[in-house]
Amino acid sequence: MPGFFDQSLSYLKGIGPQRAELLAKELELFTYGDLLRYFPFRYEDRTQFVKIKDLSQYDVAVQFKATIVRWSTVGVGHKQRLVGVCKDDTGEIELVWFKGANWVQSRIKAGIPYIIFGKPTRYGSTLNIAHPEVEPLISEAPKNNYLYPVYPLTDKLRKRFVDSKVLRKAIQVLLRESQNYLTEVLPKDLILKYGLIDRKSALLSIHFPTDTVALKKAQYRLKYEELLMIQLKLIRLKLTRIDKFRGIVFSNSELLNKFYKEYIPFELTGAQKKVIKEIYADFRSASQMNRLVQGDVGSGKTMVAFLCMLIAIGNGTQCALMAPTEILAEQHFDGLSTYAEQLGLSIARLTGSTKKARRKIIHEQLEDGSLQILVGTHALLEDKVKFKQLGLAVVDEQHRFGVAQRAKLWQKNEKTFPHILVMTATPIPRTLAMTLYGDLDISVIDELPAGRKPIQTQHMRDSQRIRMFDFLDKEVLKGRQIYIVYPLIEESSTMDYKDLMDGYESISRRFPNYPLSILHGRMKADDKEFEMRRFAKGETKIMVATTVIEVGVNVPNASVMVIENAERFGLSQLHQLRGRVGRGAEQSFCLLMTGLKLSKEAKTRIGTMVETNDGFKIAETDLKLRGPGDLMGTQQSGILDLKLADLSKDGEILLLARQSAIDLLAADPELTDYPQLAFQLKQKQANAFTWSRIS
Ligand code: ADP
Ligand code: MG
Repeated sequence: MPGFFDQSLSYLKGIGPQRAELLAKELELFTYGDLLRYFPFRYEDRTQFVKIKDLSQYDVAVQFKATIVRWSTVGVGHKQRLVGVCKDDTGEIELVWFKGANWVQSRIKAGIPYIIFGKPTRYGSTLNIAHPEVEPLISEAPKNNYLYPVYPLTDKLRKRFVDSKVLRKAIQVLLRESQNYLTEVLPKDLILKYGLIDRKSALLSIHFPTDTVALKKAQYRLKYEELLMIQLKLIRLKLTRIDKFRGIVFSNSELLNKFYKEYIPFELTGAQKKVIKEIYADFRSASQMNRLVQGDVGSGKTMVAFLCMLIAIGNGTQCALMAPTEILAEQHFDGLSTYAEQLGLSIARLTGSTKKARRKIIHEQLEDGSLQILVGTHALLEDKVKFKQLGLAVVDEQHRFGVAQRAKLWQKNEKTFPHILVMTATPIPRTLAMTLYGDLDISVIDELPAGRKPIQTQHMRDSQRIRMFDFLDKEVLKGRQIYIVYPLIEESSTMDYKDLMDGYESISRRFPNYPLSILHGRMKADDKEFEMRRFAKGETKIMVATTVIEVGVNVPNASVMVIENAERFGLSQLHQLRGRVGRGAEQSFCLLMTGLKLSKEAKTRIGTMVETNDGFKIAETDLKLRGPGDLMGTQQSGILDLKLADLSKDGEILLLARQSAIDLLAADPELTDYPQLAFQLKQKQANAFTWSRIS
């Protein structure tokens, strides 16, 4: 049975069928409940009145009390405007209307006091306010004594006169009518424990706060509720998974030990050991593993993955490693082949460019179990690729893959799900990870192999280009290799492509004696591969490229990364690019080239890069600058569809909510004692994201 809040907005007084249709189309507001949860994005302070003589100090909208003293019409034709001069006891100011003069004059009378609200603008020596809001001043006027909610709107809505005022009125009606239906959902203990205000007051105050204290309390309460719901859902998924999804138990570590004793080329870092232990514990637990390994570029994730594969293989199963690009798959394959050979394991590579005949062999060997390790791109996901028994699937550089693609990995086995290990080099701030991957277990490799010299990063202006080239010259003479990266934000952007080509030409002119490579998305896979190889082998000294080199490629001898138009890159992308150097024993450098004029945000990004090499710090800043949606790229932004809470600011509330969710579900897995909460959760789940089970 549909409840009160499921009613269509067309039944609400002040909305009606036409506006309801508009609101549905423009803002996806369909029901009473939708409107009630459509929150203001800012508030105008209608608690303070200023004096006309002080208006020049404001460049935001303010309100004051005044009386119109005279009207005039100024200008001709389309420049004609209505000017009303108003005054209070401190001075005069002009109010200007470019449209609707008749309507304005019929509504606003000279000699009566009004409350006028608008943004003062300076024109030469005079100050005026264009199209102010004007309301009669009723002497007691208590209704104006609050923070005025302003709602996010679209142009279309405004054009059809559905503005904040209309929403304000409709929500007022709605709040009045819904008094009996607004029941509490949060458990009493939690309300007491965290000093939360009740739900009814919170919803009232978020739309019509009497002051900032009331507003803060309302926001806090509603953010907590929002985050709690998400965490309940995620933690429940995790509990279900642990309970229901049986994993293959791997308890034999002989193969791992053999490799570790006889072949491993370096001592593992403490962080690598820690993470392998965490994974091994999952393997033995009888539940399916679903673990995310976060580690900054160069932290040695590949070796961790390989050692885990050895456990899986040592227990008679097969492994897959999926990378987002051919080049990266190739590198993984080359790297792992050496080790696999030492141990006598069979390994194959499968990408889009694998020939048909070869493919057929691979398919067969996978099915009869003779192939133990398969490395490749998303070609691994094709239905034809079937395993005898896939024990562990590793996904590298996770954010490049779509959610649906990863889901396919789950289905590669018929009876048991393979264990899934997702590796990402994009450090995700804790708050974001808890929400995005709240149902996954998370491991962090927070230590770089010993002996790495921190990369030195410098910001250079285009005017210092000659100096920059001289520096490159010296480095190449020392035997190093260099990346020069150009932005190619969209593969289709002809301008960017031209920039790259122009850059390539000027570099060839400056360094006629050095062999160069070029790499960009418009090249055929074979050609890319060819260039990448030449560079990796040291045959070319300078690699001029777009961001296709961003992910994973490993050329230890490359020690300088020049990023052109660095202001156009996002912070985490800059960090990813920088991570291509600093992989060998030499001191590495990152030069960020920009023009003279930088936006404030660009300055922060560049400044952060110069200041720190710490991927987690960078991710935090990035989250603050861009907000969580953008940070994860469009692919996943829908996941973070939070109405109120902001993961970059509300980390503290998130931690409380997460802990509450853990405690609640531990004591009462089905939430039987909290029917309201269980109901709310179920409703959410109806249109829930299935992504969260997937990675
Ligand atoms: P990423 O985490 O960025 O994928 P890689 O796995 O590519 O990092 O490792 C970067 C480089 O560091 C590789 O050349 C790898 O062989 C090396 N490496 C990994 N672990 C260690 C270690 N414990 N000690 C020294 N070198 C290591
Ligand atoms: Mg890697």
